[in-house]
Amino acid sequence: MEFELIEGQRGPHPITRDPSNLSFCYEWTPNGRKKNYRRFACKACRAKRNKGEDIRVPELKAHLNQDIWLSTVPHCPHSCSPKLYDEL
Ligand SMILES: [Zn+2]
Repeated sequence: MEFELIEGQRGPHPITRDPSNLSFCYEWTPNGRKKNYRRFACKACRAKRNKGEDIRVPELKAHLNQDIWLSTVPHCPHSCSPKLYDEL
């Protein structure tokens, strides 16, 4: 699935829609790369963990060179609440 990008302070970054309500979405931020794919972490969950919460941060895999998700289901559930797209 191709990235849906939004503009941010540090340039464009991808979002994914909440499957249960497509008006809501999660924002993703680069989280390093492996040999065969790039990793993205949920921005809001990572912010919570950076503040000291003991949570797992959902990750998604993306194509190395193209803005295409290799998976759209994170490896663990979100601890954040999805944001309304219109308020991003
Ligand atoms: Zn999250």
